[in-house]
Amino acid sequence: MLELPRDLIQPDPSQPAGDPASIMAQLAGSDPRLAMLMQLLQSGRAREGAAPEPVDDRTETIVDLSERLEAAEAQILRLKTSGRRLLERARASEERLSELAAALGACGLCWGEDPGCPSCRGRGRPGMTRPDPDLRQQLFGPQRSRAGRSDEPAAH
Ligand SMILES: [Zn+2]
Repeated sequence: MLELPRDLIQPDPSQPAGDPASIMAQLAGSDPRLAMLMQLLQSGRAREGAAPEPVDDRTETIVDLSERLEAAEAQILRLKTSGRRLLERARASEERLSELAAALGACGLCWGEDPGCPSCRGRGRPGMTRPDPDLRQQLFGPQRSRAGRSDEPAAH
């Protein structure tokens, strides 16, 4: 306990007797150094019982957490990049599949496999519509006749 100057503890007949807390508050108000000392004493009292954490441990923890944060950020960046690449590939595949469906006269949404399809109601198997000849030629080359011969000039 802080030793208080005698004259402050002695009851002053002109003033009402103060409790220790208010006396300490008055002291703190009158002298900044005393205020600091009292703050130190109070914080020391609050920490009593709990062992003070060594600074080194906290520094280690901070370094460890920063490293983990950096690693996590790097991983997020990698995942974003690979997610973007996957999305691009999925879109390209969808486009290719839709072209193929048009070339075969099939439903580009379900290929005739979904009875609830808003486009074909499940009837969109290849041949449902007239295939797009230009697209067909572009994808499969010159069309063969029914006899199996090529429209192309004689084979080389
Ligand atoms: Zn369909």
